[in-house]
Amino acid sequence: MSFRPATLLRTATSRAKSDVANKLVSMLLHEISREITEAHGAPAVTSESYASSVERAFGNACLYCARPLERNSTVVEHLDGMNRFRLGLHVPGNAALACKACNSQKRGDDQRAELILAGTGWESFLSHDGIRCGLSCKSCAYWRDIIPDAEERRMFLAQRREAVARFRRHYLEILAAACGLRESLRGQVTELYRACQDFASKEISALKRRVLS
Ligand SMILES: [Zn+2]
Ligand SMILES: [Zn+2]
Repeated sequence: MSFRPATLLRTATSRAKSDVANKLVSMLLHEISREITEAHGAPAVTSESYASSVERAFGNACLYCARPLERNSTVVEHLDGMNRFRLGLHVPGNAALACKACNSQKRGDDQRAELILAGTGWESFLSHDGIRCGLSCKSCAYWRDIIPDAEERRMFLAQRREAVARFRRHYLEILAAACGLRESLRGQVTELYRACQDFASKEISALKRRVLS
C-alpha cells in the first residue's frame, strides 16, 4: 500500500490535540458505567459469568467478522462506541471481543456525528454491504475483501446483526438505562470535551511563552 508522509504527519499532529479530551470523555463514561452496573445489579463486564455469556454468543470469534480470535490481535469492543458521538458505556451487553481489524475499521462509523446506514454504530458497521454507500466507502471495501460475493456478503452481515441483537436481548434493562442517560450525557460530554481543549491550549501557550522567553 502506498502512503504519503505528509498526510501521516498532518493527521498525527491534529490527533494529538483531541487525544487528551477524548481520554477525559472515556474516563467519565467509564465512571458512569461502573455506577449504573452496580445500581442495576448487573454482572460486571470483568466477571466470569459475563465472559461465559460472551463466549456462548460469539464463541472464540470476532463478534463482527466471525473470524477466530488470536491472542495478539483481540481487543475489547464496545458496540456503542465509548466516545462523544456514540456515548456507549462499559456495561454488559455493550462490551464484547473483536479482532483489531474490525475494531479499527468500525471507527469510521463511530466517529461520525450522524450515522447514515443505521441508528447505532455497530449496526451501521454491519450494514456496509456495498449497496447504499458510494464506491469510495472504505468499510464497504473492507467487507468486500472478506466476502467477495455480494449476495453472500449481504446475508452474512444480516446474520451478524441478528447475532449481536440476540446477545443484547439478555441485557435489555441495563442497555435501556444506558440509552436513557444518553441525552443528558451528550451535553455534559460536549462541555467536558471543549473545556479540556480550552484548558490544554491556554496552559500550553502560557508554558510555551515562559520556556521561550
Ligand atoms: Zn473481526
Ligand atoms: Zn459503506
